[in-house]
Amino acid sequence: MYQIKEKPFIQEINTTIAHENNVRLFVLRLDVIHPIISGNKWYKLKYNIETAKQSGYEKILSFGGAFSNHIHALAGASREAGLKSIGIIRGERPFPLNPTLEFAIQQGMDLHFVSRTDYRDKTSADFIRNLEKRYGPFYLVPEGGSNHLALKGISEIVNKKVKGYDYLCLPVGTGGTIGGIIAGMDGEGKICGFPVLKGDFLKKEIQELISSYNNNSYSNWSLMSDYHFGGYAKFNSQLINFINQFKSDFGIPLDPIYTGKMMFGVFDLLEKGCFKKGSKILTIHTGGLQGIEGFNERFGKLIE
Ligand SMILES: *Cc1c(COP(=O)(O)O)cnc(C)c1O
Repeated sequence: MYQIKEKPFIQEINTTIAHENNVRLFVLRLDVIHPIISGNKWYKLKYNIETAKQSGYEKILSFGGAFSNHIHALAGASREAGLKSIGIIRGERPFPLNPTLEFAIQQGMDLHFVSRTDYRDKTSADFIRNLEKRYGPFYLVPEGGSNHLALKGISEIVNKKVKGYDYLCLPVGTGGTIGGIIAGMDGEGKICGFPVLKGDFLKKEIQELISSYNNNSYSNWSLMSDYHFGGYAKFNSQLINFINQFKSDFGIPLDPIYTGKMMFGVFDLLEKGCFKKGSKILTIHTGGLQGIEGFNERFGKLIE
């Protein structure tokens, strides 16, 4: 199994906007725990990798976009765990490969590119059967890695210290991470998710993930749906400026897909006075920094 290289730690963000609003702002640095399997993906994959090995699988397969943090982490985690990994990638093979996919190949991942139409069909029995014909038996991890085993791993992020905060704020993609945090908090505090995708299908999916994990439902959480910046991997100069300013002010790098949008949202809500006076807010740095290189290659060197 793979191990944490550095313990996650909590750091205070000393910003006037927090002082003016009489709250304290902190960040849980999950981005530091491992140079490759960084952030939330480490926790999401932990029990999936373990189960794959214990069930005797030699191969593990999952899905993602060409810049996916999940694919990157899966490639690294599988190699450390001695499993062969297969990545089903949405869209055509880029030439040259971007840094994320280049890394995945270096880790021994077998990349298989499928059209966007076929990709939409990826959960169908036919599609899976064809993959099995091609690759033989494999342990399947859903897109983004969100299943009940992911929630189990994520829930271990919550300890006594984390439970002492009034608010937990984190970015939301497929919802497995917030699901695990909600389950781990088990009714305490208030959890605020910042979806990076448009649409309101998420609430229901998160509820289903939680009940598949512990059969419970909770009401101490909500989704802040105004900070997706137009959708997945969409951005504007305001977001880019915020990310660069944040790094120069506090020495903490944020990624433009997830953590940058979440932190932007938290600062905006702070400005609007949305957090209770006297409260302590813990933002979760879920990692994702591997994506910056590919993002800069694609859009010009925007992130410093
Ligand atoms: C994948 C990812 C998320 C989203 O996690 P979900 O469990 O899919 O909601 C958030 N932040 C980062 C950095 C990620 O890589």
